[in-house]
Amino acid sequence: MGAASSRLEKALGEQFPEGERYFGLENFGNTCYCNSVLQISNQKKKTGVIAPKRFIQRLKKQNELFRSYMHQDAHEFLNFLLNELVDILEKECKANKETPQNSSSNKSSNGPINGQPNGSHKEPETTWVHKCFQGILTNQTKCLRCETVTDRDETFLDLSLDIEQNSSITSCLKNFSSTETLNAEDKFFCDKCCSLQEAQKRMKIKKQPNILVIHLKRFKYIEQLGRYKKLTYRVVFPLELKLMNTVDNSDLEYSLFAVLVHVGSGPNHGHYISVVKSHNHWLFFDDETVEMTDESMVQTFFGSAQEFSGNTDNGYILFYESVAKTS
Ligand SMILES: [Zn+2]
Repeated sequence: MGAASSRLEKALGEQFPEGERYFGLENFGNTCYCNSVLQISNQKKKTGVIAPKRFIQRLKKQNELFRSYMHQDAHEFLNFLLNELVDILEKECKANKETPQNSSSNKSSNGPINGQPNGSHKEPETTWVHKCFQGILTNQTKCLRCETVTDRDETFLDLSLDIEQNSSITSCLKNFSSTETLNAEDKFFCDKCCSLQEAQKRMKIKKQPNILVIHLKRFKYIEQLGRYKKLTYRVVFPLELKLMNTVDNSDLEYSLFAVLVHVGSGPNHGHYISVVKSHNHWLFFDDETVEMTDESMVQTFFGSAQEFSGNTDNGYILFYESVAKTS
């Protein structure tokens, strides 16, 4: 492990980004779901191995979902982590507000303490998690009788997309926002008509997040099998993504900076690894291993066009950051 990390230092040489640290994370038996996510969110030596033992212990104590040695889902863990972070940050922020003139303690450097002028305590706090990951979706429903359009907004920290064989993120996003007809047993209650009516529904992005997290639904429950199956479908994800399903039809540009990869053929066994772009270098993280890699590695995680090919290293969660438009 030590050899591997000094190899990385050697490979980066002069180009090793100042102040940056690249650490592997030890696996304590089925904790790679967690390691692969932590690599993306986290980072006096430049390289090495960390054993996130206390983190795992705390995680298992707090949530029984993660207590067993059964395979765990990295997407569930990411959600849990983000929600837990929001809870902690909101509590901290509230505690700071309740302490009058808390100038003596400067420890909370990352919370918006001097918040909104209307000290309404109902208003949820805006934490850095929200600033990074939160976007707003609008659920537009049009009553087919009176044509009234009802907008309902909901916030999201990531988008979960259904996937199809031989497709791309762009087409998955298009499907996500495609118009759906509500009829038969699934009618919509129109306030204007005061009755259940046929309607058309579609989801659009109203506020784009700074970091767009896309979760590919690779684990699908198959009724006939009575269990979950992993879909190794080929879904192309570009390095530069245009987000087009927005309310105001503006296209937003994103750049891929991390991919969390599920390795293995089934949902109940397997492994997680990740590739992360840092200071224009792509790095490969596999528990305690950290290595330099190439941008071209990303495309090896698209999936496979044939069902029974040997390639089971599939992009599972994609992390895109918004890029300022140059034009
Ligand atoms: Zn109506």
